[in-house]
Amino acid sequence: MQQISTDPISPLGLCGYVGFWDFLTRRVRIGIAAFDDGRCCKLASTVLHEASHLRLFKGTERNAYKLEKDCFGCGTGKPPAN
Ligand SMILES: [Zn+2]
Repeated sequence: MQQISTDPISPLGLCGYVGFWDFLTRRVRIGIAAFDDGRCCKLASTVLHEASHLRLFKGTERNAYKLEKDCFGCGTGKPPAN
C-alpha cells in the first residue's frame, strides 16, 4: 500500500472504499466516517478492511469482514445482508 487518503466520500455513508483504479494504483480511501467508532468500528479495523481489498483473489468483502472480526472484534464477520 502506497498511500492512505481521506476523500470526501463520507456523504455516501462509506467508511472506506477501494475501486478498480484504486486497486491498480494500490490506494485505499478512508472516509471521514471511519474516524467515528460508532459508525465504522475502529479506524484500524476500517484501514485493515480496505487494505485487504488490495489482495489479489483474496480481496473479497467476505474476507474483509472476517478479518475485521478476527483482528478487532468488529461486526459479525460477515458482510451486511441487504
Ligand atoms: Zn469492503
